[in-house]
Amino acid sequence: MDYLPINIKIKNKKCLVLGAGAVAFRKIQMLKKAGATIVCVALNIDKNIQLMEKSIVIIKQDIYQYVDDIGLDKYSLIISATNDDKLAQYIFNLTKLKNILVNTVDNKQLCNYISPAIVDRNPIIISISSSGVAPVLARKIRESIEKIIPSKLGRLAQYAETIREQVKQSISTMLLRRKFWESFFDSTIGSKIMNTGYKPNVNKLVNEFSEGSQNKGEVFLVGAGPGDPELLTIKALRVMQQADVVFYDRLISQEIIDLVRRDAELINVGKSMGNHMVKQEDTNQLLIEQALKGKRVCRLKGGDPFVFGRGGEEIQALRKAGISYQIVPGITAAIGCASYAGIPLTHRDYAQKVVFVTAHCKNSIDTLDWSSIAQKKQTLVVYMGLMKSQYLVDNLIANGQNRLTDVAVVENGTCHNQRVFNGRLYDLPGLIKRNSIESPALLIIGEVAKLGNELAWFQPQNQLKSSVNMLKIA
Ligand code: SAH
Repeated sequence: MDYLPINIKIKNKKCLVLGAGAVAFRKIQMLKKAGATIVCVALNIDKNIQLMEKSIVIIKQDIYQYVDDIGLDKYSLIISATNDDKLAQYIFNLTKLKNILVNTVDNKQLCNYISPAIVDRNPIIISISSSGVAPVLARKIRESIEKIIPSKLGRLAQYAETIREQVKQSISTMLLRRKFWESFFDSTIGSKIMNTGYKPNVNKLVNEFSEGSQNKGEVFLVGAGPGDPELLTIKALRVMQQADVVFYDRLISQEIIDLVRRDAELINVGKSMGNHMVKQEDTNQLLIEQALKGKRVCRLKGGDPFVFGRGGEEIQALRKAGISYQIVPGITAAIGCASYAGIPLTHRDYAQKVVFVTAHCKNSIDTLDWSSIAQKKQTLVVYMGLMKSQYLVDNLIANGQNRLTDVAVVENGTCHNQRVFNGRLYDLPGLIKRNSIESPALLIIGEVAKLGNELAWFQPQNQLKSSVNMLKIA
């Protein structure tokens, strides 16, 4: 981080704006909103600025002369908006050893602070900064945020401030208070307050929104998708950002974990094949324990929780313990990997059916009906199939599958290190070995696999990580 975002109290502080064109006008408007005492100096004064002469001091004078006569010491903040590089440098040099904040418009080198793009819902202020690197991008992000933040949000925040002390008196612990505020802000009362100025009775609110939350928590079984954080659903992201505790496993990327609420407790119950960090039964028990403590628990699972994810087992355990739960679906690996490899799982010319199977089964007992799986005009997607690829190939071919059937292997699908390999069925184990393909990888078997050569679009190494940061705003 090159800059530390802070909000400065500028009310009644003397601020100097040098230059009086359109940019200076915008800066003056912003300073005025923050209650600054403004002096604007320039030889030519823009019409809009002239109209402000009742609320700001306008001095029509050569800037060098003003600075030489008056000096800059009495100012807390200076904005150079003159288009004159020499003058800007001169001003910057004069302030170097002083405690003055200086911003030269469009010249990062001559600034000791930079201004972010702002979404203003006073008292809620959202600042977006690109550290001066890409101001237009910051503005674009601001536009997206403008759209999703209610215009009267400030009213809600102001109301919350008026009842904050009373809520503190009525609800003793921080955890329960946070729950109260979350339910309150999630409720329809929030929008009533924003839209109509309604001021509900505090005791009533406390009764309504604290009810029940003191006893049992809730578990959210959340599908995190195949890896690319942008494939998270909005609901998944919201649950991740409201959770008290998050349980996650091996398939969840760091980029996704970074999107979890900062002060949530993170528990890794990850397992790699044969190396179970936490047994399934123990994971179930941990979920129950946390929920019984009244926590909002997020159980994050790769892909979709109900596709080869043991989500069913976890929910059965919760149900048995009387814990309430919600399930948030995610994009399963087959769907994500196929898209990012440019392989349409169905295609009228090649496949009328898609079958998802796992090569990994309980107690190693294979219950697959091979003759129904070895078919033409279908796409077979195999989860956890790397280790058993030879077994798979042997069974498929023995049951009539053409040994030259197209296959694709997608490793780390949708992630910045995605790799895709194409080949033929008989050579699948060789393909895996030669390319040292590692888990997680998905096998796609069927004629559609070859379409990836033609339709691939995803260029993993070019993926901008910054897109992930956009999600953090939410
Ligand atoms: N519930 C998950 C699947 C869990 S089983 C889902 O819906 O996707 C784990 C297997 O999923 C891995 O062994 C691999 O075969 C597949 N898988 C998961 N994420 C993957 C990814 N990003 N790329 C390739 N395969 C993936």
